[in-house]
Amino acid sequence: MLTIGLAMLQGARREHIHALQRAAALLEVEIEIRELRKSTDTTGLDGLILPGGESTAMKIASRSEDLYSGLWKEIEDSEIPVLGTCAGAILLSQQGLVTAPIERNGFGRQRESFQSQIQIDIDEEKIFPGVFIRAPRFSKGSPHAIAWLDDEVVGILEGKCMALTFHPELTDNLCFHRWLLNEAML
Ligand code: GLN
Repeated sequence: MLTIGLAMLQGARREHIHALQRAAALLEVEIEIRELRKSTDTTGLDGLILPGGESTAMKIASRSEDLYSGLWKEIEDSEIPVLGTCAGAILLSQQGLVTAPIERNGFGRQRESFQSQIQIDIDEEKIFPGVFIRAPRFSKGSPHAIAWLDDEVVGILEGKCMALTFHPELTDNLCFHRWLLNEAML
């Protein structure tokens, strides 16, 4: 039984729950999805999802319960795999868990939200439907890229921390959630 934490303070959470459940069924692995709201919820995780939403709202919401400080400690102590999407990727970059600098809303207002096919390099998958919603942008690229929109880096894997500026949970392709569960099993 794997325990996968999902930060619940703000953002796109239901879609991640559904994607995790479907990926677990495909991999025939039993999971418990733990909804994380306070720092004491964060111990004993096998994997973690930081969803998209508004990174500022997440940090403000976290202040009273100190959820994120608990999470950063758990990531460091237990080296669990982490999937951060969109605002979650912003938090990973700001925390230094991925070293690539990130710019909030970096794709600008005129392109606040768009869909585009992207290239990925994860398992056997090579093409992915990228959904970008007021997406952040890696301002300097990264040597740890695993996803590209044309020539631009939109996904990074450093150690076990994956930061994606798009929203895989809004597509039918489960490869990123499968990646998280596979890593959590190791
Ligand atoms: N623009 C948001 C932020 O800065 C991120 C958008 C998203 O997660 N869809 O936090």
